[in-house]
Amino acid sequence: MKILVQKFGGTSVSTPERREKAASKVIEAVKNGFSVVVVVSAMGRNGDPYATDTLINMVKSIDSNISKRELDLLMNCGEIISSVTFAATLSKKGYKAKVFTGGQAGIITDDNFGNAEIIKVEPTRLLESLKEGIIPVVAGFQGITEEGDLTTLGRGGSDTTAALLGEALKASAVEIYTDVDGIMTADPRIVSKAHILKKISYNEVFQFAEQGARVVHPRAVEIAMRGNIPLVIKNTMSDSPGTIITQYNEAYDNIYDIDKLVTGIANMDHRVQIVLENSENAESIFETIAEEKISIDLINIFPEKQVFTISEMDFKKLQKLLEENNIKYSYRTNCSKVSIIGNRIRGVPGVMARVIKALSRHNIEIYQTADSHNTISCLVSQDKAEEAVRVLHDEFNL
Ligand code: ADP
Ligand code: MG
Repeated sequence: MKILVQKFGGTSVSTPERREKAASKVIEAVKNGFSVVVVVSAMGRNGDPYATDTLINMVKSIDSNISKRELDLLMNCGEIISSVTFAATLSKKGYKAKVFTGGQAGIITDDNFGNAEIIKVEPTRLLESLKEGIIPVVAGFQGITEEGDLTTLGRGGSDTTAALLGEALKASAVEIYTDVDGIMTADPRIVSKAHILKKISYNEVFQFAEQGARVVHPRAVEIAMRGNIPLVIKNTMSDSPGTIITQYNEAYDNIYDIDKLVTGIANMDHRVQIVLENSENAESIFETIAEEKISIDLINIFPEKQVFTISEMDFKKLQKLLEENNIKYSYRTNCSKVSIIGNRIRGVPGVMARVIKALSRHNIEIYQTADSHNTISCLVSQDKAEEAVRVLHDEFNL
């Protein structure tokens, strides 16, 4: 059995016309001899009746402190509605389909509501369905605890569902259908001349996703890489071949690509920069921050101060922590992290200097920098971020 996992994101299932298009992708794959497992996100974006944010806002307008457990139960609804609707679309076209929640699809998680960790994946029922020639349509983004509580896998979680099922079912590939033709050198909404990357390595795309390119979720990339399952990013509304994500050595088969220093630019808004000054118990506070599952990055440690950034979402929680521990701090809100990504950045001298010079030339102030093997990131003011992305896109001739 040649298994193909096809995931359709929020916009791809938001209207009857788009669902028809999405269903035709499934039918085409079935006709090509694949046993297809479909994964869907909730329909549409905030404001649309069954979109996840709409549901959250509805309940939060009543009780802003609703528990994470109940919130997860609520958030499971969007994908369930979407999967039943999608299965109906397939049935109408004469293809048998059966809906599965994340739990029914065998995705077992811990009880870290809102961002649950996977314990195991046992897709027995999906396999049974495939053997009967019935297309399983799985509600993305969700799992179940061993006690039976419904959980969610964090934002972008439907990508994670698709990758997990691809790995567990040893699929030929996982196709992520979205509203752009593939992974581009930058967010096409910011850089109009951004272009499609035909092939890219797991590593780079992971960095891309980690640094804020929301086109695919980093966890999904990690899982696909672990299972060595090719990931393909495609457009539901077009027939373009999309972006193939594979191992590094397979991803670069021409000199032009290998020569290119930078693969793309990503940005992440809603960052807050925190400065801890003269804090004696700094080491232990970092432990506490980690225990509270607040993720930090761009960390610079000096003898007299520590500087790092967090997501705006965690800011209140962090403030409370710091105040409880009598730690003096200052902060800067409305920051954005702009990153250049490329496997070949490592070892090439002068790349950071070029980034700094290009941004300075455009009077974009840099608050903090960081670099790793394959990324260089700069923290800038959020209202300068889009300009910074365009400047760097030009600087590296992407
Ligand atoms: P879906 O609902 O299908 O999961 P997302 O909104 O999560 O879709 O991801 C698709 C969006 O990602 C695109 O519309 C695009 O604006 C954005 N994006 C950000 N960076 C990139 C990039 N480098 N290449 C392509 N799309 C990108
Ligand atoms: Mg997405």
